[in-house]
Amino acid sequence: MKSDDYIRLENKYGASNYKPLDVVLSRGEGIWVWDVEGRKYMDCLSSYSAVNQGHCHPKILSALKEQAEKLTLVSRAFHSDQLGPFYQEVCERTKSHSVLPMNSGAEAVETAIKAVRKWGYQEKKVAPGQAEIIVCENNFHGRTLTIIGFSTEEQYKDGYAPFTPGFKIIPFGDAEALEAAITPNTVGFLVEPIQGEGGVIVPPTGYLKSVREICDQNNVMLVLDEIQTGLGRTGKLFAEEHEDIESDLTLIGKALSGGFYPVSAVLSNKEVLGVFKPGDHGSTFGGNPLACAVARAALSVLFEEKMIENAAVQGKYFQKRLKEIKSPHIKEVRGKGLLIGVELFPEAGGARKFCEALRDKGILCKETHTHVIRLAPPLIIQQNELNWALERIREVLTKG
Ligand SMILES: *Cc1c(COP(=O)(O)O)cnc(C)c1O
Repeated sequence: MKSDDYIRLENKYGASNYKPLDVVLSRGEGIWVWDVEGRKYMDCLSSYSAVNQGHCHPKILSALKEQAEKLTLVSRAFHSDQLGPFYQEVCERTKSHSVLPMNSGAEAVETAIKAVRKWGYQEKKVAPGQAEIIVCENNFHGRTLTIIGFSTEEQYKDGYAPFTPGFKIIPFGDAEALEAAITPNTVGFLVEPIQGEGGVIVPPTGYLKSVREICDQNNVMLVLDEIQTGLGRTGKLFAEEHEDIESDLTLIGKALSGGFYPVSAVLSNKEVLGVFKPGDHGSTFGGNPLACAVARAALSVLFEEKMIENAAVQGKYFQKRLKEIKSPHIKEVRGKGLLIGVELFPEAGGARKFCEALRDKGILCKETHTHVIRLAPPLIIQQNELNWALERIREVLTKG
């Protein structure tokens, strides 16, 4: 079968809730993927930062294989010999007090919302049913009904009402707006350190520091959604480290499994997760032995192979060289580490056609928010490989 045949099958039988680029991939290794015709591409999306460690990382792969032959799922009705060691590894590596494992990113967000609300009623003594959580405009936290209910992206919400109440939306990057929005009923502030899906929006320096102070002063839980920015993507383990702060809850997912398997987690610096009693919350697959083994390996290679440091060094180089490209289309190059957005002027006619031109030159990336090309290669990328990409990016952005 050829690419067209596979695409035809998807179109015939599948719901059309995605509009992928016309490339059908069948193999991946490191920063490279191959399509069914054998063409090779550099992956500059990394599955929205789920494959920070590179495709099919051999150490994660062998952890997966080994565990898959032993035990994959016991449900949380029983203990397993993988859960405890995973908890220890993730808490030690991230300096967290405790952890609650789930599967998708959206489930981690939902878990944090439940935890923070329950904490609000039990500890902060908010009147029953009155808890408020503050979120930001232009956020992306996933696709469940509760989460899209506080999205400001019309398309994400259109046709899905009614939504879960209890959320207040303020501008992103504006600490004063947070202060003004807090009431005695506010239990949490949920925010991305850098808005990824929102177009790689970096808040002003000092924002997170102010946010931390405001949350402390008002006894409000700071929940950082680091599902995309975490695990090395921005050149630190967590983006919060750029401002030297600590969240109360941190949400991770995506790269927690290096792309092998859906694994997410809520990390807690305080006793917030202590509000859950047996039966309060759960997931059949959450914390299963296979997920634990994969996640442990995925976490260790980030450190052992110095991927986080590499992301900082190569990200800086990549951004600097992108800024040197003289193109009438480029409005701004921004980002941190290897999470980079190239925003184009509206007159350029949208980022998608540039992503298509890049694909034709062997680079895969995806537009976000119509006018932004997101460049987020695996954290193992080297300078010569970036140079190879930069040459092609320059060609595509300087002609036409
Ligand atoms: C991808 C993402 C999510 C949702 O993760 P899923 O695994 O797709 O549910 C949540 N928050 C952020 C910041 C993300 O980038």
